[in-house]
Amino acid sequence: MAPICASGRKKREKCLYFFRLCLNFSLVVTFLIFSSSQHQWGFWAHKRINRLAVFRLPPEMLVFYKPNIDYLTENAVNPDKRRYSVVGEAERHFIDLDVYGDGALILLPKYWREAVGKIGEDSLRKHGIAPWHIQLASYQLTEAFKAKDAQRILRISADLGHYIADAHVPLHTTRNYNGQFSNQDGIHGFWESRLPELFAGDYDVWNGSAEYQENIANAIWNVVRESHACLDSVFLFEKELSKNFKQDKKYSYELRNNVLTRSYSHDFAEKYHQMLDRQVERRMRAAIKMVGDMWYTCWVNAGQPDLSDLKNALDPTQGEESPNWLKRLFPARPEPED
Ligand SMILES: [Zn+2]
Repeated sequence: MAPICASGRKKREKCLYFFRLCLNFSLVVTFLIFSSSQHQWGFWAHKRINRLAVFRLPPEMLVFYKPNIDYLTENAVNPDKRRYSVVGEAERHFIDLDVYGDGALILLPKYWREAVGKIGEDSLRKHGIAPWHIQLASYQLTEAFKAKDAQRILRISADLGHYIADAHVPLHTTRNYNGQFSNQDGIHGFWESRLPELFAGDYDVWNGSAEYQENIANAIWNVVRESHACLDSVFLFEKELSKNFKQDKKYSYELRNNVLTRSYSHDFAEKYHQMLDRQVERRMRAAIKMVGDMWYTCWVNAGQPDLSDLKNALDPTQGEESPNWLKRLFPARPEPED
């Protein structure tokens, strides 16, 4: 009898193992579907920023950018879409300045090579590389202009716009990026998605014509410094306001992309937005300005090539970074409502 029991137990163990495997797999699939569906509603501001940046460009650039404005708008969200699938993508969207202490902005070298020498590449990537990657993408865009490569110009412009916009979000400069260490879970999507969605209709985001940036590295580090300086009020006002709101008044539940989602209530959002005193509007306007400035600066640095004969770009998706699902399935930082 004993051998039969043993083989029965083995079968049961095998079944259990298979069941667990299936369960894990379905959890992975659910996680991916859920996270990608949540991404949908954070995309509005990115698209808006790229679109409005086009109107800041001089006529010599508009002749190419205007006919391709829909591409630049729709693809403003590509970097977020591939965050879980392309190795090295996730860390381009943020920098956890607080990890480096109060003197982070003095301690961190402005340029990548020096930063790698001082901090080490692994450590840098772990805590985000946004300001360095924006410099790299700007260099790549300049090269694309020099080569008059329409497809690359469009693809890199769309991506660069995304990274610059992310660097303008205060919560992209802290390890407490979603309030997870201060009992303020969900604040990330609240600030960068829900508030603009509710109130951006009243924003004044016009900046005038694009301006040349003498020093790209300085300009980008300035953006990050300003974003980080906003963090105190982002966290403090939410805490202050929460004291006056009961839980059931602070949050509301709504169906988003067929998922029942808990969001901050309209009443709470309105009061928080007032307390922030147009902070979201200022960061969004600054982002539109910097995206336009940076596209323009790269074009000037490339020697102001004639773009009028590039109007009909064929396939800007050519040469995109290829996904590598297995390598990058989970290590990417989840940004729930990014
Ligand atoms: Zn992003």
